[in-house]
Amino acid sequence: MQGLSCNNAQQKRFLIVEDERDIARLLAMHLREYPAEVTTCSNGAEALALAMKEHWDAMILDLQLPVLNGIDICRALRDVNSRLPIIVLTSRTTEQDRILGLETGADDYMTKPFSVMELVARVRALVRRSEYRPEAPNQSQSLLVIGELIVDTRTHQASLAGKKLDLTSKEFELLGFFARQPGQVFTRSQLLDQVWGYGHDGYEHTVNSHINRLRNKLAESGAAKSIDKSCLETVWGVGYRLNPDRIES
Ligand code: CA
Repeated sequence: MQGLSCNNAQQKRFLIVEDERDIARLLAMHLREYPAEVTTCSNGAEALALAMKEHWDAMILDLQLPVLNGIDICRALRDVNSRLPIIVLTSRTTEQDRILGLETGADDYMTKPFSVMELVARVRALVRRSEYRPEAPNQSQSLLVIGELIVDTRTHQASLAGKKLDLTSKEFELLGFFARQPGQVFTRSQLLDQVWGYGHDGYEHTVNSHINRLRNKLAESGAAKSIDKSCLETVWGVGYRLNPDRIES
């Protein structure tokens, strides 16, 4: 484990969990220019302890690690802290890991070999968006109410049928995005562009996995009022939409 700090109040704190030393070193070098305090860790169990104990602005998490793998780390973290932005790193040969990583709560993933500059750009996008809170409390858009769904963009809280939704930062943004335009259909690339802040091919899994997770959480909270997964509807061949008719009690 290696740490580096300086006294900039604006400085972010990133945790890199990667057992390939060259990759960890390269990532740390580039992320320090953010500017940020960067800590690297090569052991899964130590990384989980560190992630739980301290505040981080983002975690870059390799999936294949000694002692405890990235999937388990992700799952354990989401059980206690649903907000920490997580980008997982995977190998091309482990498609299943990549999907599993997203399903267990990562916000984004990159496939090795990857461009360090792109990773830094994605970290920036994630951090910026996870910090985003509209300033004006009486802004008309800060509280969105659609049937049984309430999305408060000021406090980053959402509920369905009176039950709080326990969402990751990215799931919340996705829900907020749909809730601002109920009934409107968005393609995967529009969602990548608008919610993740970048549009590119080959990352449809990111959208699919987040939609699936969000859907399950909506159905869980809405169950008492017979609101099911169809409230976040797949429009075949086009994309997804929040169906306001399905959120009425
Ligand atoms: Ca590894």
